[in-house]
Amino acid sequence: MWTIEEGIERIRNKGLKITSQRIAILKLLKDRKDHPSAEKIFREMKRSYPTISFATIYSTAQILQEAGLLQILTIDEHRVFFDPNPEPHAHFRCKKCGAVSDLTLDPTIFEKIADSSPESVECVQVYCYGTCGFCRKECDSIEYPAKQVPVN
Ligand SMILES: [Zn+2]
Ligand SMILES: [Zn+2]
Repeated sequence: MWTIEEGIERIRNKGLKITSQRIAILKLLKDRKDHPSAEKIFREMKRSYPTISFATIYSTAQILQEAGLLQILTIDEHRVFFDPNPEPHAHFRCKKCGAVSDLTLDPTIFEKIADSSPESVECVQVYCYGTCGFCRKECDSIEYPAKQVPVN
């Protein structure tokens, strides 16, 4: 993961301007593991920058992605999620609660996908969908009697 100083440096190296809003978004995203949606970041930014627009959040995210500081996840068809971990890793979205989390997969899978393509692959996204552990527990306790393990 990157520090704020590294983040600023990488934005500068891209020939882009450092604005107080861009630094504020960097600070807001740094080290986050919760994969916040663009809307959530918009709401959080509005507390310090009441006039900020959603378009600014999104365009800043694209700059951060270009600078290798952020992944914009299109795991959901209705909204995007941000991940400040730029390393390739798989994601999981729960169909019940909508939470997005990291999924531990064999990391070589990303190289294998890239290597097996005749095209020059620069980015691989792996999106998996299902029911998260928390929602499974909820649904087990409601729908299934004790000891009976649900199929799938
Ligand atoms: Zn869930
Ligand atoms: Zn992630």
